[in-house]
Amino acid sequence: MLASKPTYRTTSPRQTRELAKAFLRSVTPRHRHATVIGLVGELGAGKTTFVQGAAEGLGLRVRMPSPTFLIQRNYPLPRTAAFRTLYHFDWYRIHTKRELDTTEFFRILGSSHAMVLVEWADRIKRYLPKDAYIIHLRHGKDSHERIIKLPPMR
Ligand code: ADP
Ligand code: MG
Repeated sequence: MLASKPTYRTTSPRQTRELAKAFLRSVTPRHRHATVIGLVGELGAGKTTFVQGAAEGLGLRVRMPSPTFLIQRNYPLPRTAAFRTLYHFDWYRIHTKRELDTTEFFRILGSSHAMVLVEWADRIKRYLPKDAYIIHLRHGKDSHERIIKLPPMR
């Protein structure tokens, strides 16, 4: 039987960012390949907001735009971070492996210094590493409510 994931409820973008920061603190780098976090949820569910919180948690102090029209953005991280580079992917427009091949995704996967966050990760889930963290986000009843399922935090 599959254990159900801990479920959180946030009522503001700030709370979602704080949850992302807390989650990031529980993530330790993989030894042989990139650490990957896949975000799954409809438009407006808070995927980009979660990525922004994760970036803050890694010491990044830039305004992160939603890369929906860009597919990939790279951010060098401060030396104090557990990773060297944060890669922000948005697979909204990606549907096939051939399209994914036009990005650096597979090369990046080989780097244990990489933190990779993927929006719309369910588009082609089979190309995520088996040990990727999967996070589900959805709208709640109120307009600022979001229901977020995270892998258990250690
Ligand atoms: P996605 O990347 O999933 O399309 P975004 O993070 O870009 O979603 O957008 C989420 C939108 O919802 C933002 O406009 C944000 O201000 C708003 N919002 C309202 N409440 C929340 C919440 N609790 N968590 C995250 N975003 C929220
Ligand atoms: Mg987004």
